[in-house]
Amino acid sequence: MRAMQIIEFGKPLELREYPTPEPKGKEVLVRVTACGVCHSDLHLWSGEFDLGEGEVLRLKDRGMKLPFTMGHEPLGTVEVLGPDADGVEVGKSYIVYPWIGCGECGVCQRGDELLCLNPQVIGTRVDGGYADYVIVPDAKYLIDYTGVSENLACTYACSGLTAYSALRKVGELTEDDYVMTIGAGGVGLSAVHFANAVTPAKIITADIDGTKRASARQVGAYETVDNSEADAVQKVLEMTGGGAAATIDFVGRPETSRFGIDCLRKGGRQVQVGLYGEKAGIPLPFFPLKMISMIGSYVGSLEEMHELMELVKQGKVPPIPVEARPLEAVNSALDDLTAGHILGRVVVKP
Ligand SMILES: [Zn+2]
Ligand SMILES: [Zn+2]
Repeated sequence: MRAMQIIEFGKPLELREYPTPEPKGKEVLVRVTACGVCHSDLHLWSGEFDLGEGEVLRLKDRGMKLPFTMGHEPLGTVEVLGPDADGVEVGKSYIVYPWIGCGECGVCQRGDELLCLNPQVIGTRVDGGYADYVIVPDAKYLIDYTGVSENLACTYACSGLTAYSALRKVGELTEDDYVMTIGAGGVGLSAVHFANAVTPAKIITADIDGTKRASARQVGAYETVDNSEADAVQKVLEMTGGGAAATIDFVGRPETSRFGIDCLRKGGRQVQVGLYGEKAGIPLPFFPLKMISMIGSYVGSLEEMHELMELVKQGKVPPIPVEARPLEAVNSALDDLTAGHILGRVVVKP
């Protein structure tokens, strides 16, 4: 089988040939027919996260070994079942839920696989979908997507799920409350799209780009704000009558997280989602004085994936634009993502 692999961090991926793996035990061999190219691949590809002020998180120090096949949004046809695998049909196509734990530790046994300290995530920890085949450790990670096109369906395993799980974390709100989303790029915009299926609160969207604010309005934002303006915080406090009940930072830069915190009402909650990087300067007295909290959200659980697909099948999640390219063109997709030239999602087709 072919795989487009990281041979050296930051260098173009290279096509390599390997024997097609054979599924053992409960494993399932899936022939990949579509795989989304995600912004977070840029971090894996470079091998590092910028933690700010010269501090860098290096993935090779975290056990990442090369060559490696990225691709954590695979979708494809079940080709071979391991001797103990069941629950899926050979020849049928499924989304692969990639956020898999070791399956053996206490948190995995409890069903909190996302919290596993020994994650086995397809495309970030074990070889992923920029290849002809992936091995899925258990049929329970294969998700039906009847009624949705495969190029769109594969994107739900990461960008759709990330938006959904972040929205779930705003807490119990009412239609009199406000949630402010910061950043109306891919994931942030899809969150605005289907927010009303998850929370009754009114959505305010902040972005420094007027085109993106206009898109947010089109897909249902109640109000938008340009967070580069000097009086942006004041505007949000006025719009909301004292602050948003929750803010979701889909960017993850120092200025966006500070902006979100400044726009919270007393008792409010900020959900950090974006992985842009660097360090935030947030005044610590705000936390006790305003009794606010800040929580992180990373992708979503298998249970949330099933909930999201229910909304998708009910037509409550409008499609994002997707563009298909051949597997060998994954380097062009990574370059375009780096340059910020992608609207929606690029999907590679092995
Ligand atoms: Zn992703
Ligand atoms: Zn585990």
